[in-house]
Amino acid sequence: MDATTMPLANINKIKHDFPDLNFEKGETFSWDPNSRTIYYEKLSSKQDLAQLLHEIAHAKLDHKNYQRDIQLIDIERSAWEYAINDLAPKYSLKLKMDDSAIQEFLDSYRDWLHKRSLCPQCDAVGLQKDNATYRCLSCSTEWRVNQAKSCQLKRYQIK
Ligand SMILES: [Zn+2]
Ligand SMILES: [Zn+2]
Repeated sequence: MDATTMPLANINKIKHDFPDLNFEKGETFSWDPNSRTIYYEKLSSKQDLAQLLHEIAHAKLDHKNYQRDIQLIDIERSAWEYAINDLAPKYSLKLKMDDSAIQEFLDSYRDWLHKRSLCPQCDAVGLQKDNATYRCLSCSTEWRVNQAKSCQLKRYQIK
């Protein structure tokens, strides 16, 4: 835990800046398009602020449910771009798309998507039938996958 305190935007300021969104404490950072609620775990580091701005970007870009996993990477990338270009400067947060932390977020997302596309029987890459089901073209196994509840698959340090 970093003991140095730096001036960070607090949650009340952020709530004030986005009156059209609801903010609630949650287990992880996430965005619920149905209730227009952003859940935040805490707001005590740059990492937390970056993740919160990323969720706000999902809200501002009106990201809802997706049908195919392949769309997820584009959704994640566009939310980071919006967070970096439009939101971070307002909170004096220096973030760049080529920051290793952002790239690692996207890489971990790609890895996670790849793993869930692998057939549990034969390890071939399956074809996604709908948002919750994959089918293997080699052995015809079908398997179900969960919707991603959070963008925060892994924690990376943003310096
Ligand atoms: Zn298979
Ligand atoms: Zn995201």
